[in-house]
Amino acid sequence: MERVCENCAREDDDLVVVNRLYVVPEAWDTPGSTTRVDTTELWCFSCRSMYPHEVAPEA
Ligand SMILES: [Zn+2]
Repeated sequence: MERVCENCAREDDDLVVVNRLYVVPEAWDTPGSTTRVDTTELWCFSCRSMYPHEVAPEA
């Protein structure tokens, strides 16, 4: 079964289940924050190196 990254849709054997994180950088009037998305996605290595995320616990 071919598996593809759910973020960039590239076929990859090295896929990991992650929760995406939305990071809001700190600004002069607002503190920074990080929001964790509850839905898990399969991400390839390059997406994991480029975008903030949290590796989901093994189901
Ligand atoms: Zn990817």
